[in-house]
Amino acid sequence: MGYDTKTRCIHGDNDGVLFDHPFGAVSTPIYQSATFAHPGVGETSGHNYSRESNPTRSELEAIVSSLEGAADTVATSSGMAAIALFLELFEIGDHLICSEDLYGGSVRLFDTNGKGHGLQFSYVDTSDLRAVEAAIRPSTRAIFVETPSNPTMVVSDLEALSNLARAHGLLLVADNTFLSPYFCNPLRHGADVVIHSGTKFLAGHNDTLAGFLSVKDPDMAQRIRFLYKTTGSCLSPFDSFLVIRGIKTLAVRMERQQENALRIAQWLRLQPKVKRVLYVGLEDHPGREVHERQTTGYGSMISFEVDSSQTAVRLLERVRLIAFAESLGGVESLVTYPLLQTHGDVPAETRERLGITDRFLRLSIGIEDVGDLIRDLEQALQ
Ligand SMILES: *Cc1c(COP(=O)(O)O)cnc(C)c1O
Repeated sequence: MGYDTKTRCIHGDNDGVLFDHPFGAVSTPIYQSATFAHPGVGETSGHNYSRESNPTRSELEAIVSSLEGAADTVATSSGMAAIALFLELFEIGDHLICSEDLYGGSVRLFDTNGKGHGLQFSYVDTSDLRAVEAAIRPSTRAIFVETPSNPTMVVSDLEALSNLARAHGLLLVADNTFLSPYFCNPLRHGADVVIHSGTKFLAGHNDTLAGFLSVKDPDMAQRIRFLYKTTGSCLSPFDSFLVIRGIKTLAVRMERQQENALRIAQWLRLQPKVKRVLYVGLEDHPGREVHERQTTGYGSMISFEVDSSQTAVRLLERVRLIAFAESLGGVESLVTYPLLQTHGDVPAETRERLGITDRFLRLSIGIEDVGDLIRDLEQALQ
């Protein structure tokens, strides 16, 4: 559509005309109704039953489709629900190639339920095209990536991977949680499916769980819709409202969070107890060139390594403004210990290879005053 992303965060694709609400309500009403009366036999008001569709949720799905350039999007009760729904597309014996550095919950889902249902998974460095190609088998159906990856910020080349996927008849799937549709639209760079934990940047306030599955192809959209109404992992009307409200400020939050993150990454680098800083916005980040080709920003996720596990533990216990908590993307800054939290379920040898040690920390930078955040880190690093 003709409007900029910032406008579409607020109006979707509605050509600047507000969604057509009763009484001209500017904000989306919460249709807290499980079921909808039929005007006549064989007739529908447009909605029948809220597991299948709900007016509040449909509006949210239309906004996310607009932001991602998708044919359709389903809103799920969490990010994991979206990934579990995605797995329903596959059958016994199907093989998926995944980024080796992946959100721990995804690894847990794949290695327990996924394998239990007869699927197979290979974890490779998806920034290395040759490694991905070498992992392709006759039974391979999809390549599943996070870019930048969580938490080691490895950048994968979406266009190159999509060319490889197309040549082998595979789906390319991107978990776009770390950048949000404001900074990256994988479907425009060759991906077939985009997944979000809407809990993070999209909702943006650490107050609700949500997930999204967006697809480019109308036929696949129909399959996903069928699986969605059949398995019932839908987002509630109230939570849909909260995410719509969150997305209205996505653009301003992303800009501010990124600005703060760059300042903090640069500051962290100068601290004697900090040994390594991973942020895609730093000029010497190894994936920076590829990242710049496929995004319009760097986001606000920073990982860093300190000199000892004591320093790491002390920092986690001493931060006052920054909360020691799982999750990311909200207006409140958070610090995470991936070893014990988000990546606790990743096999130890994988963690070691990736450098997710007891000295490794991850920051999600919020919208607080950057000076206050730096002072908080400074006292916690003493
Ligand atoms: C949080 C997260 C998920 C899972 O989403 P939930 O909303 O917590 O279920 C998936 N992928 C990434 C990259 C995440 O950060």
